[in-house]
Amino acid sequence: MDYSHVFHNDPETFVEKMRRDDKLPCEKVEPIPLDAPKKEGYTRFVCISDTHNLHRQMRHRVPDGDVLIHCGDFTDLGKLEEVEDFNDWLSTLPHKHKIVIAGNHELSFDERIMANVRKSKADGSYCRFKFLHVIPEDICKDWPKVLSNCTFLHDAEVTVNGIRLHGCSWNPEFGGWAFNERRGQPLLQCWNKIPEGIDILLTHSPPAGYNDTVDPHDMCVGDVDLTNAVQQRIKPKYHVYGHIHEAYGYTTDGKCNYINCTIVDRRHNPCNKPVIIDFPTPEGA
Ligand code: 5GP
Ligand code: MN
Ligand code: MN
Ligand code: MN
Repeated sequence: MDYSHVFHNDPETFVEKMRRDDKLPCEKVEPIPLDAPKKEGYTRFVCISDTHNLHRQMRHRVPDGDVLIHCGDFTDLGKLEEVEDFNDWLSTLPHKHKIVIAGNHELSFDERIMANVRKSKADGSYCRFKFLHVIPEDICKDWPKVLSNCTFLHDAEVTVNGIRLHGCSWNPEFGGWAFNERRGQPLLQCWNKIPEGIDILLTHSPPAGYNDTVDPHDMCVGDVDLTNAVQQRIKPKYHVYGHIHEAYGYTTDGKCNYINCTIVDRRHNPCNKPVIIDFPTPEGA
């Protein structure tokens, strides 16, 4: 029975039924201690997400590594000064490579939202994000230029030390924020843009069933079609994301490792630890 087809709007029931049929294995993984030395022949990735402008107030220092990963929501509203401040902070970190994707809070990174803002300015129509109009259009069309201290990914990939990473910001519709898409066909089409053969997949939002539960009843809100895409087609070794602040943690299905590395917790305290991935560097890289 393909539950995803029936339950793409109901991740909680999808996960419940799949778990009952033993089709969605999930075990906790003990993270690598932040002070553990890196073994020879490995590339170290240091993963964070959801810092929400609190990058300088993180309780745990970001450990050194070869690659820093940030999975989005580095600002609260995607204002230019927030993005510039985040980019300034990136320059203080020692990592040789820094890879960043946007989250739903980076409002100005979503062309559809900016088009709405411009329209409301022109014809007086309502737009809840009207304050964003201060960002010139040429800046919004070229965020990688502002984010000069990292590699910014959206529906794009990059290879580091022979290891392939792909990043995208799509997330299930929730309040009309950036990169929101409806569950079902619209989101599935977004996931279909992710190629096979990726080693580390970066998304802002979680797949259903893996570090995706919200308070108070531990209800799964991750995307069902993302779980299927990851497990059946893309088959990355790691899937890294954030977005659900309550669901920080590290789990595995035995094939793919799932890391929700949100730094802020449910109360917006920046108290969670960055998560380390030591990935074997491919021969010859
Ligand atoms: P953010 O606004 O930073 O993207 O998400 C903050 C919080 O909003 C999450 O920790 C979670 O509690 C809630 N949230 C985000 N997306 C969803 C969703 O799709 N469903 C539900 N129920 N809550 C969500
Ligand atoms: Mn929010
Ligand atoms: Mn967030
Ligand atoms: Mn988010």
